[in-house]
Amino acid sequence: MKKVSDVLIIGSGIAGLSFAIKIAESRPDLSVLILTKNAGEESNTARAQGGIAVVLNKLKDSFDQHIEDTMKAGKGQSNKKVVEMVVSQAPARLEELMEWGASFDKNNNGELALGLEGGHSQARIVHHRDLTGLEMETTLLKKVAVLPNISIQDHYFVTDLLTIEEKEQTKCIGVKAIDKNRNRLIAIQARIIFLATGGSGMIFRNTTNPSVATADGVAIANRAGAGIKDMDFIQFHPTALYEPDKHPLFLISEAVRGFGAYVVNKAGQRFLFKYDSRGELATRDIVSSAIVKELAESREEFVFLDCSHLYSKDFEKHFPTIVSYCNSVGIKPENELIPVVPAAHYQCGGIEVDSFARSSIKNLYASGECAYTGLHGANRLASNSLLEALVYSHQAFENVVKEIDHIELSGFGTFESETNEISHDSVSIERKLNRLNELMGYEAVQGTNKKFKESALKKLLQLKKEIEDEEKPSVAFYELKNMADVAILILEESISRFQSLSKNRKN
Ligand SMILES: Cc1cc2nc3c(=O)[nH]c(=O)nc-3n(C[C@H](O)[C@H](O)[C@H](O)COP(=O)(O)OP(=O)(O)OC[C@H]3O[C@@H](n4cnc5c(N)ncnc54)[C@H](O)[C@@H]3O)c2cc1C
Repeated sequence: MKKVSDVLIIGSGIAGLSFAIKIAESRPDLSVLILTKNAGEESNTARAQGGIAVVLNKLKDSFDQHIEDTMKAGKGQSNKKVVEMVVSQAPARLEELMEWGASFDKNNNGELALGLEGGHSQARIVHHRDLTGLEMETTLLKKVAVLPNISIQDHYFVTDLLTIEEKEQTKCIGVKAIDKNRNRLIAIQARIIFLATGGSGMIFRNTTNPSVATADGVAIANRAGAGIKDMDFIQFHPTALYEPDKHPLFLISEAVRGFGAYVVNKAGQRFLFKYDSRGELATRDIVSSAIVKELAESREEFVFLDCSHLYSKDFEKHFPTIVSYCNSVGIKPENELIPVVPAAHYQCGGIEVDSFARSSIKNLYASGECAYTGLHGANRLASNSLLEALVYSHQAFENVVKEIDHIELSGFGTFESETNEISHDSVSIERKLNRLNELMGYEAVQGTNKKFKESALKKLLQLKKEIEDEEKPSVAFYELKNMADVAILILEESISRFQSLSKNRKN
Protein backbone atom coordinates (compact mmCIF):
# COMPACT_ATOMS: atom_id res chain seq x y z
CA MET A 1 0.00 0.00 0.00
CA LYS A 2 1.17 3.54 -0.81
CA LYS A 3 2.11 5.56 2.30
CA VAL A 4 1.13 8.86 0.69
CA SER A 5 -2.28 10.06 -0.46
CA ASP A 6 -3.87 13.39 -1.36
CA VAL A 7 -6.94 12.68 0.76
CA LEU A 8 -6.89 10.22 3.65
CA ILE A 9 -10.23 9.11 5.15
CA ILE A 10 -10.50 7.14 8.39
CA GLY A 11 -13.69 5.09 8.50
CA SER A 12 -15.96 3.39 6.00
CA GLY A 13 -19.45 4.36 7.19
CA ILE A 14 -21.77 6.85 5.50
CA ALA A 15 -19.64 9.90 6.41
CA GLY A 16 -16.35 8.55 5.06
CA LEU A 17 -17.70 6.79 1.98
CA SER A 18 -19.98 9.61 0.76
CA PHE A 19 -17.10 12.10 1.12
CA ALA A 20 -14.73 9.76 -0.77
CA ILE A 21 -17.19 9.38 -3.67
CA LYS A 22 -17.72 13.12 -4.05
CA ILE A 23 -14.01 13.95 -4.03
CA ALA A 24 -13.09 11.07 -6.35
CA GLU A 25 -15.79 11.90 -8.90
CA SER A 26 -15.11 15.59 -9.01
CA ARG A 27 -11.28 15.33 -8.95
CA PRO A 28 -10.14 12.17 -10.75
CA ASP A 29 -6.57 13.54 -10.52
CA LEU A 30 -6.53 13.17 -6.69
CA SER A 31 -5.74 9.95 -4.84
CA VAL A 32 -8.22 9.04 -2.10
CA LEU A 33 -7.28 6.43 0.52
CA ILE A 34 -9.83 5.02 2.99
CA LEU A 35 -8.52 3.15 6.05
CA THR A 36 -10.96 1.13 8.11
CA LYS A 37 -10.20 -1.01 11.10
CA ASN A 38 -12.25 -4.13 10.33
CA ALA A 39 -14.13 -5.31 7.23
CA GLY A 40 -15.41 -2.35 5.17
CA GLU A 41 -19.08 -2.77 6.05
CA GLU A 42 -18.61 -3.01 9.84
CA SER A 43 -20.07 0.29 11.03
CA ASN A 44 -22.96 1.93 12.83
CA THR A 45 -24.22 2.87 9.39
CA ALA A 46 -24.83 -0.74 8.40
CA ARG A 47 -26.95 -1.20 11.58
CA ALA A 48 -29.28 1.76 11.04
CA GLN A 49 -32.83 0.52 10.87
CA GLY A 50 -35.40 3.32 10.93
CA GLY A 51 -34.28 5.61 8.13
CA ILE A 52 -33.36 9.14 7.17
CA ALA A 53 -35.44 12.23 7.93
CA VAL A 54 -36.29 14.27 4.81
CA VAL A 55 -39.15 16.71 4.19
CA LEU A 56 -40.71 15.55 0.91
CA ASN A 57 -44.45 16.03 1.26
CA LYS A 58 -44.64 19.83 1.16
CA LEU A 59 -48.47 19.76 1.38
CA LYS A 60 -48.45 18.42 4.93
CA ASP A 61 -44.88 19.03 6.01
CA SER A 62 -42.32 21.84 5.79
CA PHE A 63 -38.66 22.55 6.52
CA ASP A 64 -39.87 24.81 9.33
CA GLN A 65 -41.63 21.91 11.06
CA HIS A 66 -38.55 19.65 10.76
CA ILE A 67 -36.40 22.50 12.11
CA GLU A 68 -38.76 23.02 15.04
CA ASP A 69 -38.88 19.29 15.86
CA THR A 70 -35.05 19.13 15.81
CA MET A 71 -34.70 22.20 18.05
CA LYS A 72 -37.31 20.84 20.47
CA ALA A 73 -35.68 17.39 20.69
CA GLY A 74 -32.30 19.08 21.27
CA LYS A 75 -33.77 20.92 24.28
CA GLY A 76 -33.00 24.29 22.73
CA GLN A 77 -29.26 23.51 22.65
CA SER A 78 -28.98 23.00 18.90
CA ASN A 79 -27.51 25.69 16.67
CA LYS A 80 -30.45 26.98 14.60
CA LYS A 81 -28.31 27.96 11.59
CA VAL A 82 -26.86 24.44 11.47
CA VAL A 83 -30.32 22.89 11.81
CA GLU A 84 -31.63 25.04 8.94
CA MET A 85 -28.70 24.08 6.71
CA VAL A 86 -29.02 20.35 7.39
CA VAL A 87 -32.80 20.20 7.03
CA SER A 88 -32.87 22.22 3.81
CA GLN A 89 -30.12 20.15 2.16
CA ALA A 90 -31.87 16.85 2.95
CA PRO A 91 -33.80 16.42 -0.35
CA ALA A 92 -30.66 17.05 -2.45
CA ARG A 93 -28.52 14.63 -0.42
CA LEU A 94 -31.23 11.94 -0.62
CA GLU A 95 -31.46 12.45 -4.37
CA GLU A 96 -27.68 11.85 -4.69
CA LEU A 97 -27.91 8.65 -2.67
CA MET A 98 -30.62 7.39 -5.01
CA GLU A 99 -28.55 8.38 -8.06
CA TRP A 100 -25.73 6.28 -6.61
CA GLY A 101 -28.15 3.33 -6.51
CA ALA A 102 -29.81 3.28 -3.07
CA SER A 103 -33.44 2.18 -3.12
CA PHE A 104 -36.13 3.10 -0.60
CA ASP A 105 -39.64 1.77 0.06
CA LYS A 106 -42.48 3.21 -2.01
CA ASN A 107 -46.21 3.49 -1.32
CA ASN A 108 -49.01 2.30 -3.63
CA ASN A 109 -48.76 5.52 -5.65
CA GLY A 110 -45.10 4.86 -6.41
CA GLU A 111 -43.95 7.72 -4.15
CA LEU A 112 -41.40 7.28 -1.38
CA ALA A 113 -43.18 5.85 1.69
CA LEU A 114 -42.70 8.08 4.73
CA GLY A 115 -42.58 6.64 8.26
CA LEU A 116 -43.24 8.37 11.59
CA GLU A 117 -40.82 8.34 14.53
CA GLY A 118 -40.71 9.79 18.06
CA GLY A 119 -40.35 13.59 18.22
CA HIS A 120 -41.37 14.11 14.57
CA SER A 121 -44.60 16.05 14.08
CA GLN A 122 -45.01 14.59 10.58
CA ALA A 123 -44.26 11.31 8.79
CA ARG A 124 -40.95 12.07 7.03
CA ILE A 125 -38.72 9.04 7.50
CA VAL A 126 -37.47 7.58 4.21
CA HIS A 127 -36.55 3.94 4.74
CA HIS A 128 -35.62 0.61 3.23
CA ARG A 129 -37.73 -1.78 5.35
CA ASP A 130 -35.83 -2.00 8.67
CA LEU A 131 -32.48 -2.25 6.87
CA THR A 132 -32.01 1.34 5.74
CA GLY A 133 -28.39 1.60 6.87
CA LEU A 134 -27.36 -1.65 5.24
CA GLU A 135 -28.89 -0.51 1.96
CA MET A 136 -26.90 2.73 2.17
CA GLU A 137 -23.65 1.05 3.23
CA THR A 138 -23.75 -1.54 0.40
CA THR A 139 -24.66 1.09 -2.17
CA LEU A 140 -21.78 3.32 -1.09
CA LEU A 141 -19.25 0.46 -0.96
CA LYS A 142 -20.28 -0.64 -4.47
CA LYS A 143 -19.86 2.89 -5.78
CA VAL A 144 -16.45 3.28 -4.10
CA ALA A 145 -15.28 0.01 -5.66
CA VAL A 146 -15.73 1.31 -9.22
CA LEU A 147 -13.98 4.63 -8.75
CA PRO A 148 -10.35 4.11 -9.86
CA ASN A 149 -8.82 6.86 -7.73
CA ILE A 150 -10.18 5.46 -4.43
CA SER A 151 -8.30 2.75 -2.58
CA ILE A 152 -10.04 1.18 0.42
CA GLN A 153 -7.79 -0.66 2.86
CA ASP A 154 -9.53 -2.69 5.53
CA HIS A 155 -7.94 -3.98 8.75
CA TYR A 156 -5.89 -0.83 9.25
CA PHE A 157 -6.35 0.62 12.74
CA VAL A 158 -5.45 4.30 13.11
CA THR A 159 -3.80 4.95 16.47
CA ASP A 160 -2.91 8.64 16.26
CA LEU A 161 -2.70 11.75 14.12
CA LEU A 162 0.68 13.07 13.02
CA THR A 163 0.84 16.82 13.53
CA ILE A 164 3.36 19.63 13.29
CA GLU A 165 3.31 23.19 14.61
CA GLU A 166 3.37 25.79 11.85
CA LYS A 167 2.81 29.54 12.17
CA GLU A 168 1.47 29.06 15.69
CA GLN A 169 -1.09 26.57 14.50
CA THR A 170 -1.28 22.78 14.76
CA LYS A 171 -1.40 21.18 11.34
CA CYS A 172 -2.33 17.56 10.61
CA ILE A 173 0.01 15.86 8.12
CA GLY A 174 -0.98 12.21 8.36
CA VAL A 175 -1.70 9.32 10.70
CA LYS A 176 -0.06 6.38 12.45
CA ALA A 177 -1.85 3.10 11.87
CA ILE A 178 -1.49 -0.57 12.70
CA ASP A 179 -1.57 -2.83 9.68
CA LYS A 180 -3.51 -5.58 11.48
CA ASN A 181 -2.56 -8.31 9.03
CA ARG A 182 1.17 -7.73 9.49
CA ASN A 183 0.92 -6.44 13.05
CA ARG A 184 3.11 -3.43 12.37
CA LEU A 185 2.84 0.26 12.97
CA ILE A 186 3.12 2.42 9.85
CA ALA A 187 2.84 6.12 9.02
CA ILE A 188 0.74 7.53 6.19
CA GLN A 189 1.06 11.04 4.87
CA ALA A 190 -1.74 13.14 3.32
CA ARG A 191 -2.77 16.67 2.41
CA ILE A 192 -6.24 16.35 3.90
CA ILE A 193 -7.14 14.01 6.78
CA PHE A 194 -10.83 13.23 7.28
CA LEU A 195 -12.02 11.54 10.48
CA ALA A 196 -15.23 9.53 10.02
CA THR A 197 -14.75 7.03 12.82
CA GLY A 198 -18.32 6.91 14.19
CA GLY A 199 -19.46 6.66 17.80
CA SER A 200 -18.52 5.42 21.25
CA GLY A 201 -21.28 3.00 22.30
CA MET A 202 -18.90 0.21 23.36
CA ILE A 203 -17.94 2.29 26.40
CA PHE A 204 -21.32 1.48 27.92
CA ARG A 205 -22.71 -1.59 29.65
CA ASN A 206 -25.87 -1.50 27.51
CA THR A 207 -25.43 -0.32 23.94
CA THR A 208 -26.90 -0.81 20.47
CA ASN A 209 -23.58 0.01 18.76
CA PRO A 210 -21.41 -2.65 17.08
CA SER A 211 -17.92 -3.54 18.35
CA VAL A 212 -16.16 -0.97 16.12
CA ALA A 213 -17.75 1.93 18.04
CA THR A 214 -14.86 2.47 20.47
CA ALA A 215 -14.60 6.29 20.44
CA ASP A 216 -11.28 6.24 18.55
CA GLY A 217 -11.80 9.43 16.51
CA VAL A 218 -12.64 11.62 19.50
CA ALA A 219 -9.78 10.19 21.58
CA ILE A 220 -7.27 10.58 18.74
CA ALA A 221 -8.35 14.16 17.96
CA ASN A 222 -8.35 15.04 21.66
CA ARG A 223 -4.77 13.78 22.07
CA ALA A 224 -3.73 15.96 19.14
CA GLY A 225 -5.34 19.00 20.79
CA ALA A 226 -8.52 19.41 18.69
CA GLY A 227 -11.59 21.04 20.23
CA ILE A 228 -14.08 18.49 21.63
CA LYS A 229 -17.59 19.47 22.72
CA ASP A 230 -20.66 18.15 24.58
CA MET A 231 -19.39 14.62 25.13
CA ASP A 232 -21.82 14.13 28.00
CA PHE A 233 -24.78 14.35 25.60
CA ILE A 234 -25.02 10.61 25.07
CA GLN A 235 -28.38 9.51 23.74
CA PHE A 236 -29.93 6.40 25.26
CA HIS A 237 -32.37 4.61 22.98
CA PRO A 238 -35.36 3.45 25.02
CA THR A 239 -35.98 0.12 23.33
CA ALA A 240 -33.00 -2.20 23.01
CA LEU A 241 -33.95 -5.87 23.29
CA TYR A 242 -33.13 -7.10 26.80
CA GLU A 243 -30.85 -10.13 26.71
CA PRO A 244 -28.77 -10.76 29.85
CA ASP A 245 -24.97 -10.69 29.31
CA LYS A 246 -25.29 -9.58 25.67
CA HIS A 247 -22.96 -6.79 24.50
CA PRO A 248 -24.07 -5.07 22.28
CA LEU A 249 -27.87 -5.37 22.46
CA PHE A 250 -30.14 -5.69 19.45
CA LEU A 251 -32.15 -2.54 18.68
CA ILE A 252 -35.92 -2.49 18.30
CA SER A 253 -36.25 0.54 16.06
CA GLU A 254 -38.05 3.76 16.97
CA ALA A 255 -40.11 3.11 13.84
CA VAL A 256 -41.86 0.25 15.69
CA ARG A 257 -43.30 2.79 18.16
CA GLY A 258 -44.02 5.04 15.19
CA PHE A 259 -46.00 2.14 13.72
CA GLY A 260 -48.13 2.04 16.88
CA ALA A 261 -46.38 -0.26 19.40
CA TYR A 262 -46.98 0.39 23.12
CA VAL A 263 -44.45 0.51 25.94
CA VAL A 264 -45.93 -1.38 28.91
CA ASN A 265 -44.87 -2.50 32.40
CA LYS A 266 -45.01 -6.01 33.83
CA ALA A 267 -48.74 -5.56 34.54
CA GLY A 268 -49.27 -4.78 30.83
CA GLN A 269 -50.07 -1.10 31.55
CA ARG A 270 -48.93 1.82 29.38
CA PHE A 271 -47.20 4.36 31.61
CA LEU A 272 -45.52 6.91 29.31
CA PHE A 273 -48.46 9.37 29.35
CA LYS A 274 -47.59 10.05 33.01
CA TYR A 275 -44.39 11.65 31.73
CA ASP A 276 -45.33 13.23 28.37
CA SER A 277 -48.59 13.80 26.53
CA ARG A 278 -47.06 12.29 23.37
CA GLY A 279 -46.74 8.91 25.13
CA GLU A 280 -44.80 6.45 22.97
CA LEU A 281 -44.07 9.20 20.43
CA ALA A 282 -42.18 11.43 22.86
CA THR A 283 -38.47 11.92 22.13
CA ARG A 284 -35.91 9.29 23.16
CA ASP A 285 -34.56 11.14 26.19
CA ILE A 286 -38.05 11.41 27.67
CA VAL A 287 -39.04 7.81 26.97
CA SER A 288 -35.69 6.47 28.28
CA SER A 289 -35.86 8.50 31.46
CA ALA A 290 -39.49 7.43 32.06
CA ILE A 291 -38.49 3.77 31.65
CA VAL A 292 -35.54 4.17 34.04
CA LYS A 293 -37.85 5.72 36.67
CA GLU A 294 -40.44 2.99 36.20
CA LEU A 295 -37.76 0.30 36.60
CA ALA A 296 -36.35 1.94 39.73
CA GLU A 297 -39.83 1.98 41.30
CA SER A 298 -40.80 -1.54 40.27
CA ARG A 299 -37.30 -3.02 40.83
CA GLU A 300 -37.73 -4.91 37.56
CA GLU A 301 -34.92 -5.22 35.00
CA PHE A 302 -36.90 -4.39 31.87
CA VAL A 303 -40.21 -3.14 30.51
CA PHE A 304 -41.92 -4.39 27.35
CA LEU A 305 -42.90 -3.39 23.85
CA ASP A 306 -46.33 -4.62 22.93
CA CYS A 307 -46.85 -5.09 19.17
CA SER A 308 -49.57 -7.75 19.40
CA HIS A 309 -52.40 -5.36 18.38
CA LEU A 310 -50.43 -4.35 15.24
CA TYR A 311 -49.53 -7.70 13.98
CA SER A 312 -50.23 -8.25 10.33
CA LYS A 313 -48.37 -9.15 7.16
CA ASP A 314 -47.71 -5.41 6.87
CA PHE A 315 -45.80 -5.39 10.17
CA GLU A 316 -43.70 -8.35 9.09
CA LYS A 317 -43.03 -6.73 5.71
CA HIS A 318 -41.95 -3.47 7.33
CA PHE A 319 -39.78 -5.01 10.08
CA PRO A 320 -38.46 -8.33 8.75
CA THR A 321 -35.12 -8.12 10.59
CA ILE A 322 -36.72 -7.29 13.93
CA VAL A 323 -39.32 -10.06 13.62
CA SER A 324 -36.70 -12.57 12.55
CA TYR A 325 -34.27 -11.61 15.36
CA CYS A 326 -37.04 -11.82 17.97
CA ASN A 327 -38.04 -15.24 16.61
CA SER A 328 -34.42 -16.39 16.77
CA VAL A 329 -34.33 -15.72 20.52
CA GLY A 330 -37.71 -17.35 21.08
CA ILE A 331 -39.99 -14.26 21.13
CA LYS A 332 -43.07 -14.13 18.90
CA PRO A 333 -44.04 -10.43 18.62
CA GLU A 334 -47.51 -11.37 17.29
CA ASN A 335 -48.56 -12.65 20.70
CA GLU A 336 -45.69 -12.09 23.13
CA LEU A 337 -44.31 -8.96 24.77
CA ILE A 338 -40.76 -7.94 23.80
CA PRO A 339 -38.54 -7.15 26.84
CA VAL A 340 -36.68 -3.87 26.35
CA VAL A 341 -34.23 -1.58 28.20
CA PRO A 342 -32.66 1.80 27.42
CA ALA A 343 -29.17 1.49 25.88
CA ALA A 344 -26.46 3.96 24.84
CA HIS A 345 -27.14 4.60 21.19
CA TYR A 346 -25.67 7.83 19.88
CA GLN A 347 -22.95 10.33 20.73
CA CYS A 348 -24.37 13.84 20.16
CA GLY A 349 -21.08 15.58 21.01
CA GLY A 350 -17.69 15.04 19.44
CA ILE A 351 -14.90 16.77 17.54
CA GLU A 352 -15.98 20.38 17.18
CA VAL A 353 -16.28 21.39 13.51
CA ASP A 354 -17.44 24.45 11.60
CA SER A 355 -20.03 24.47 8.82
CA PHE A 356 -17.45 22.98 6.39
CA ALA A 357 -16.59 20.13 8.79
CA ARG A 358 -13.19 21.70 9.60
CA SER A 359 -11.82 20.93 13.06
CA SER A 360 -9.63 23.33 15.04
CA ILE A 361 -6.53 21.54 13.62
CA LYS A 362 -5.49 22.68 10.15
CA ASN A 363 -6.28 20.20 7.33
CA LEU A 364 -8.16 17.91 9.74
CA TYR A 365 -11.86 17.42 9.01
CA ALA A 366 -14.48 15.36 10.86
CA SER A 367 -17.96 14.25 9.85
CA GLY A 368 -20.64 11.82 11.03
CA GLU A 369 -21.06 10.57 14.57
CA CYS A 370 -17.51 11.47 15.67
CA ALA A 371 -18.17 15.16 14.93
CA TYR A 372 -19.96 17.85 16.93
CA THR A 373 -21.73 20.15 14.47
CA GLY A 374 -24.36 21.73 16.74
CA LEU A 375 -27.25 19.92 15.03
CA HIS A 376 -28.38 17.62 17.83
CA GLY A 377 -28.05 19.79 20.92
CA ALA A 378 -28.67 17.74 24.05
CA ASN A 379 -30.65 15.00 22.31
CA ARG A 380 -30.71 13.89 18.67
CA LEU A 381 -34.04 13.76 16.86
CA ALA A 382 -34.56 10.25 15.43
CA SER A 383 -33.22 9.68 11.89
CA ASN A 384 -31.28 12.96 11.78
CA SER A 385 -27.82 11.38 12.01
CA LEU A 386 -27.49 9.67 8.64
CA LEU A 387 -28.66 12.98 7.23
CA GLU A 388 -26.12 14.99 9.23
CA ALA A 389 -23.29 12.75 8.00
CA LEU A 390 -24.32 13.21 4.36
CA VAL A 391 -24.67 16.98 4.70
CA TYR A 392 -21.37 17.55 6.52
CA SER A 393 -19.43 15.24 4.19
CA HIS A 394 -20.88 17.29 1.33
CA GLN A 395 -19.88 20.55 3.02
CA ALA A 396 -16.36 19.23 3.57
CA PHE A 397 -16.15 18.19 -0.07
CA GLU A 398 -17.14 21.69 -1.23
CA ASN A 399 -14.35 23.20 0.83
CA VAL A 400 -11.66 20.59 0.15
CA VAL A 401 -11.93 20.88 -3.65
CA LYS A 402 -11.41 24.63 -3.28
CA GLU A 403 -8.43 24.39 -0.93
CA ILE A 404 -6.51 21.23 -1.73
CA ASP A 405 -4.44 22.67 -4.58
CA HIS A 406 -2.89 25.11 -2.12
CA ILE A 407 -1.89 22.41 0.38
CA GLU A 408 1.58 20.88 0.16
CA LEU A 409 2.49 17.45 1.53
CA SER A 410 4.68 17.76 4.63
CA GLY A 411 7.42 15.17 5.20
CA PHE A 412 7.61 13.10 8.39
CA GLY A 413 11.34 13.20 8.86
CA THR A 414 12.52 9.84 10.14
CA PHE A 415 9.40 8.01 11.35
CA GLU A 416 10.46 4.39 11.74
CA SER A 417 7.45 3.06 10.01
CA GLU A 418 8.30 -0.63 9.72
CA THR A 419 10.07 -1.29 12.98
CA ASN A 420 7.46 -1.02 15.73
CA GLU A 421 6.23 -4.42 16.85
CA ILE A 422 2.65 -4.61 18.11
CA SER A 423 1.64 -7.19 20.71
CA HIS A 424 -1.36 -9.45 20.62
CA ASP A 425 -4.54 -8.80 22.59
CA SER A 426 -4.59 -10.01 26.21
CA VAL A 427 -7.18 -11.45 28.59
CA SER A 428 -6.55 -8.72 31.15
CA ILE A 429 -7.71 -6.12 28.61
CA GLU A 430 -11.05 -7.94 28.43
CA ARG A 431 -11.35 -7.76 32.23
CA LYS A 432 -10.56 -4.06 32.26
CA LEU A 433 -13.15 -3.47 29.52
CA ASN A 434 -15.76 -5.16 31.73
CA ARG A 435 -14.82 -2.82 34.58
CA LEU A 436 -15.21 0.18 32.26
CA ASN A 437 -18.62 -1.04 31.07
CA GLU A 438 -19.81 -1.58 34.64
CA LEU A 439 -18.98 2.04 35.49
CA MET A 440 -20.68 3.51 32.43
CA GLY A 441 -24.43 2.96 32.76
CA TYR A 442 -27.41 5.32 32.38
CA GLU A 443 -27.05 6.60 35.98
CA ALA A 444 -23.44 7.73 35.57
CA VAL A 445 -24.19 9.81 32.48
CA GLN A 446 -27.82 10.91 32.73
CA GLY A 447 -28.46 10.55 36.46
CA THR A 448 -28.67 13.45 38.91
CA ASN A 449 -26.58 11.95 41.72
CA LYS A 450 -23.36 13.99 41.73
CA LYS A 451 -21.61 11.77 44.28
CA PHE A 452 -22.29 8.70 42.13
CA LYS A 453 -20.78 10.43 39.09
CA GLU A 454 -17.72 11.59 41.06
CA SER A 455 -17.11 8.13 42.43
CA ALA A 456 -17.38 6.63 38.91
CA LEU A 457 -14.91 9.22 37.61
CA LYS A 458 -12.42 8.42 40.37
CA LYS A 459 -12.58 4.72 39.50
CA LEU A 460 -12.18 5.55 35.80
CA LEU A 461 -9.02 7.57 36.46
CA GLN A 462 -7.58 4.61 38.38
CA LEU A 463 -8.55 2.25 35.55
CA LYS A 464 -6.88 4.50 32.97
CA LYS A 465 -3.67 4.43 35.01
CA GLU A 466 -3.73 0.63 35.19
CA ILE A 467 -4.34 0.38 31.43
CA GLU A 468 -1.37 2.62 30.67
CA ASP A 469 0.94 1.02 33.26
CA GLU A 470 0.12 -2.63 32.75
CA GLU A 471 -0.83 -3.21 29.11
CA LYS A 472 1.38 -3.44 26.02
CA PRO A 473 0.44 -1.71 22.72
CA SER A 474 -2.04 -3.75 20.66
CA VAL A 475 -5.28 -2.89 18.83
CA ALA A 476 -7.34 -3.89 21.89
CA PHE A 477 -5.08 -1.78 24.10
CA TYR A 478 -5.59 1.33 21.94
CA GLU A 479 -9.34 0.78 21.77
CA LEU A 480 -9.60 0.36 25.54
CA LYS A 481 -7.36 3.37 26.19
CA ASN A 482 -9.47 5.45 23.77
CA MET A 483 -12.69 4.37 25.48
CA ALA A 484 -11.30 5.12 28.96
CA ASP A 485 -10.08 8.55 27.83
CA VAL A 486 -13.46 9.39 26.30
CA ALA A 487 -15.41 7.99 29.28
CA ILE A 488 -13.41 10.41 31.45
CA LEU A 489 -14.30 13.30 29.11
CA ILE A 490 -17.97 12.29 29.31
CA LEU A 491 -18.07 12.19 33.10
CA GLU A 492 -15.98 15.33 33.57
CA GLU A 493 -18.31 17.25 31.26
CA SER A 494 -21.39 15.74 32.87
CA ILE A 495 -20.21 16.74 36.39
CA SER A 496 -19.26 20.26 35.34
CA ARG A 497 -22.61 20.79 33.55
CA PHE A 498 -24.38 19.47 36.64
CA GLN A 499 -22.47 21.94 38.83
CA SER A 500 -23.23 24.95 36.64
CA LEU A 501 -26.92 24.00 36.41
CA SER A 502 -27.15 23.74 40.23
CA LYS A 503 -25.37 27.10 40.57
CA ASN A 504 -27.79 28.74 38.11
CA ARG A 505 -30.75 27.31 39.99
CA LYS A 506 -29.47 28.75 43.28
CA ASN A 507 -28.89 32.26 41.80
C1 LIG B 1 -28.55 -0.03 15.76
C2 LIG B 1 -28.50 1.39 15.21
C3 LIG B 1 -29.57 1.91 14.52
C4 LIG B 1 -29.53 3.22 14.01
N1 LIG B 1 -30.59 3.69 13.28
C5 LIG B 1 -30.49 4.94 12.73
C6 LIG B 1 -31.53 5.43 11.87
O1 LIG B 1 -32.50 4.74 11.61
N2 LIG B 1 -31.38 6.68 11.36
C7 LIG B 1 -30.31 7.48 11.62
O2 LIG B 1 -30.25 8.62 11.13
N3 LIG B 1 -29.31 7.02 12.41
C8 LIG B 1 -29.37 5.77 12.95
N4 LIG B 1 -28.35 5.32 13.74
C9 LIG B 1 -27.15 6.16 13.90
C10 LIG B 1 -26.33 6.12 12.61
O3 LIG B 1 -26.33 4.82 12.09
C11 LIG B 1 -24.89 6.56 12.84
O4 LIG B 1 -24.85 7.74 13.58
C12 LIG B 1 -24.18 6.80 11.52
O5 LIG B 1 -24.32 5.66 10.71
C13 LIG B 1 -22.72 7.09 11.76
O6 LIG B 1 -22.04 7.06 10.54
P1 LIG B 1 -20.49 7.34 10.51
O7 LIG B 1 -20.06 7.24 9.10
O8 LIG B 1 -20.19 8.57 11.26
O9 LIG B 1 -19.85 6.16 11.40
P2 LIG B 1 -19.92 4.59 11.23
O10 LIG B 1 -20.95 4.18 10.26
O11 LIG B 1 -19.98 3.98 12.58
O12 LIG B 1 -18.50 4.26 10.59
C14 LIG B 1 -17.32 4.40 11.35
C15 LIG B 1 -16.20 3.72 10.61
O13 LIG B 1 -14.94 4.06 11.19
C16 LIG B 1 -14.14 2.90 11.35
N5 LIG B 1 -13.19 3.17 12.42
C17 LIG B 1 -13.47 3.55 13.71
N6 LIG B 1 -12.32 3.73 14.38
C18 LIG B 1 -11.29 3.49 13.52
C19 LIG B 1 -9.87 3.50 13.64
N7 LIG B 1 -9.26 3.78 14.79
N8 LIG B 1 -9.13 3.19 12.54
C20 LIG B 1 -9.73 2.87 11.37
N9 LIG B 1 -11.08 2.82 11.21
C21 LIG B 1 -11.84 3.14 12.27
C22 LIG B 1 -15.17 1.82 11.66
O14 LIG B 1 -14.64 0.55 11.45
C23 LIG B 1 -16.26 2.20 10.66
O15 LIG B 1 -15.93 1.74 9.38
C24 LIG B 1 -28.38 4.01 14.24
C25 LIG B 1 -27.29 3.48 14.94
C26 LIG B 1 -27.34 2.18 15.42
C27 LIG B 1 -26.16 1.63 16.16
